[in-house]
Amino acid sequence: MAAITRLVKRTPYLPCAARFLSHAPPQKERNVQWVFLGCPGVGKGTYASRLCNLLGVPHIATGDLVRSELASNGPLSSQLSEIVNQGKLVSDEIIMSLLSKRLADGEAKGESGFILDGFPRTIKQAEILEGVTDIDLVVNLKIQEEALLAKCLGRRICNQCGGNFNVASISLKGENGRPGMVMAPLLPPAHCMSKLVTRSDDTEEVVKERLRIYSEKSQPVEEFYRSRGKLLEFDLPGGIPESWPKLLQALNLYDYEEKQSVAA
Ligand code: AMP
Repeated sequence: MAAITRLVKRTPYLPCAARFLSHAPPQKERNVQWVFLGCPGVGKGTYASRLCNLLGVPHIATGDLVRSELASNGPLSSQLSEIVNQGKLVSDEIIMSLLSKRLADGEAKGESGFILDGFPRTIKQAEILEGVTDIDLVVNLKIQEEALLAKCLGRRICNQCGGNFNVASISLKGENGRPGMVMAPLLPPAHCMSKLVTRSDDTEEVVKERLRIYSEKSQPVEEFYRSRGKLLEFDLPGGIPESWPKLLQALNLYDYEEKQSVAA
């Protein structure tokens, strides 16, 4: 907790989405404090990590913190493994302690600003975060529900480079005024092909439970931020080629990306 407070005190930010969106794109020295919300499989990690690369802030995914604690075979490992493999949420206390440690380690390395992915996932977590820092903007990513299960089941990770891929090919027909959607697979390069692994919680039974838990515990977090004027709803129109430019536009970062690539 102290780590979050210290981090926040020296981090400049804009206080709400509306102000952010009406401002010029951020300069390099301005550190954002953003949150990405959305159901399992929606693509929070993909878009949050791309934005982090663009803005030069750390991508902090609490799911990654949990998996790395699990892999460390530390004192919490067996407890965490049981919870994660049932699709349940880890306790707020454990998550806060993993997150505080991550922020403290980052602070020691000179990090500032962040995009949080997968946190907060309960109202309690949102209240704790709200009590120690001002989040500038909360992006709520959404896709059609039918695509979520397929995206989770198609997810593959390279166990050498850590790259995230997806072998699912999704095509949903438009109906009842709803647009159709096509998402091409995101295939790995040849050298990752033999090293692909599937997350132990990406099985059909566990994904369904994670989706159920999301609507019970995490959906109220959307309202928490909506009522504070911080929520930016973003419907993904398709895969990365269609969605990334639109997301940049929605965040008023389209020109920013162009300037960055010219400067690179
Ligand atoms: P994710 O990679 O975000 O899907 O997270 C994987 C698993 O880690 C979740 O199903 C939870 O068991 C746990 N987890 C991650 N973030 C949180 C959080 N903020 N609160 C509680 N549990 C979490």
